[in-house]
Amino acid sequence: MGLLLLGAHMSIAGGVSQALDRAASVQSNAVQVFTKNNRQWAGPPINEEDVARWQEQMPALGIQYAVSHASYLINLASPKDDLWAKSRAAQKDELVRAHAYAIPHVVLHPGSHTGAGDDFGIARIAEALNRIHDETPECADTATCLEIMAGQGNVLGRNLEQLRAIIDQVEDKRRVGVCLDTCHAYATGYDIRTAEGYAGFMAEVERWLGLDAVKVWHFNDSKGALGSNLDRHVHIGEGEIGAEGFGHILNDARWDGTAMLLETPKEDTLEEDAMNLARLCALVEDGARIPPGLRSQQGE
Ligand SMILES: [Zn+2]
Ligand SMILES: [Zn+2]
Repeated sequence: MGLLLLGAHMSIAGGVSQALDRAASVQSNAVQVFTKNNRQWAGPPINEEDVARWQEQMPALGIQYAVSHASYLINLASPKDDLWAKSRAAQKDELVRAHAYAIPHVVLHPGSHTGAGDDFGIARIAEALNRIHDETPECADTATCLEIMAGQGNVLGRNLEQLRAIIDQVEDKRRVGVCLDTCHAYATGYDIRTAEGYAGFMAEVERWLGLDAVKVWHFNDSKGALGSNLDRHVHIGEGEIGAEGFGHILNDARWDGTAMLLETPKEDTLEEDAMNLARLCALVEDGARIPPGLRSQQGE
């Protein structure tokens, strides 16, 4: 089995490339970033100096994988034409920014149909992606990864079937993938606590999407119970999933090459990230798979 790709979502304060330094400071070898302020529609122009620094620092710091997370404002399922157009423009911008940094994947919350119905919302998302893809042939190497959601209200992507239904209507399948968030999956009803539960979830992933569709994992324990639809991330081993659930994924060779990234609560010191990474490493059966900088923490 190969080296694990482990890391966390990191702040881009001071520039997108600063996230790489933060990732390296906790000895991780993978990172998730926003490529602009995620709570604003428009961002500043792409900073070419920062792009150059990113390209230099990523290999220098031993960061082997990076993914971006799209703005929380985007809703490609919206029945309102103005918001839909704004969302399409924003997701297009996300792809252009990721492409500039040679980031291969952009995680996106599929969207909410706000009452217009599941079928409408699913078709709306796929249509939006098809239009975006037509408009950005230069970004063909940057895929949108639809994230599984916790299942609240009218939010789409609440199960694997819905993710499949969206992908079915996307014309260029190479440009779309999936992000599995452990907290969301658990909150929406997939029990990954036990070996049997995890095997059952994997069988469903294979059935509906195929393992190749999964481009990235989000590793978050869940405050809410199984099927609670509560999207509240907590530290590894301190939630309803428990550490063992993460061990199943970490020790599954099928995820070689697929990054596992924390989105757990933290302060600027990143102490909590270091703690959660150490907890994950303690679950890894083959120590040679742990990123070199984190090996000393195994068994502590
Ligand atoms: Zn997300
Ligand atoms: Zn997530």
